[in-house]
Amino acid sequence: VETNEQGGKKAARIAYEDIGGLGLQVERIREMIELPLRFPQIFERLGIEAPKGVLLHGPPGTGKTLTARAVANETDVYFTHISGPEVIGKFYGESEGRLRRVFEEAEANAPAIIFIDEIDAIAPKREDMGGEKQVERRVVAQLLALLDGLKSRGQVIVIGATNLPNTLDPALRRPGRFDREILIPIPDKNARYDILQIHTRGMPLADNVDLKKLAEITHGFVGADLQAFAREAAMLALRRILPDIDFSRPEISYDLAMGLTISMADFLS
Ligand code: ATP
Repeated sequence: VETNEQGGKKAARIAYEDIGGLGLQVERIREMIELPLRFPQIFERLGIEAPKGVLLHGPPGTGKTLTARAVANETDVYFTHISGPEVIGKFYGESEGRLRRVFEEAEANAPAIIFIDEIDAIAPKREDMGGEKQVERRVVAQLLALLDGLKSRGQVIVIGATNLPNTLDPALRRPGRFDREILIPIPDKNARYDILQIHTRGMPLADNVDLKKLAEITHGFVGADLQAFAREAAMLALRRILPDIDFSRPEISYDLAMGLTISMADFLS
């Protein structure tokens, strides 16, 4: 089941195979999240507590949201996605109530994952909050209370994502709260190769397209950049045939488009 802020909207079904270059991270996430959600009795038997909160941190566009969606889909649990800035802004005046309802709903539909994107927006260090930050102050307190109050231990797991882990209220990172952290790093060359393969999977690539080479020359690109890079190449290829497209002769245009391949030059220009 998948819902989001607006309620009930289905998102694309992301699987582990749609995540590139994060093999180790996905393994740890499965252990921390999928295992307790699927087999709570293992944790009970071992006498250890399943995590309530897991923090994914790393630069923007590296796959934090993607990974959270994948683990929810693959585990087939109830998934709610909320974003920190939205809780503070859009639901102004009812932020705490909103947050409380998200937790109640997840508990009612357990096993469940609550994903809080940009959690730093709702939980900045309390000492950094001046008088004008009353909303944030109350929302952090509410979030802490909700985490502490999660009854179905192991059956509701909260994943928080942030680019700024050090700006988070340290109270949030104490044991029993967000006490597990996973860094989602900027991809290296091999990871970029993996990601490029994923995002060109459905594309008609010409034989001269060398993804290894493209991975080498995209130093500093994160997953979101690589996705845009592949999409741009496809758009360039499309633009090459655009002058020859004749809308009054759709069958010819169709053949042209169907014969189109994306070449190395489309990636490099
Ligand atoms: P932000 O901090 O900005 O929310 P994020 O880390 O949550 O960023 P995502 O939203 O998961 O990043 O990534 C954006 C898009 O980039 C994804 O939907 C996906 O298409 C692509 N992407 C990012 N990382 C990867 C990856 N490791 N493998 C495959 N695709 C990726």
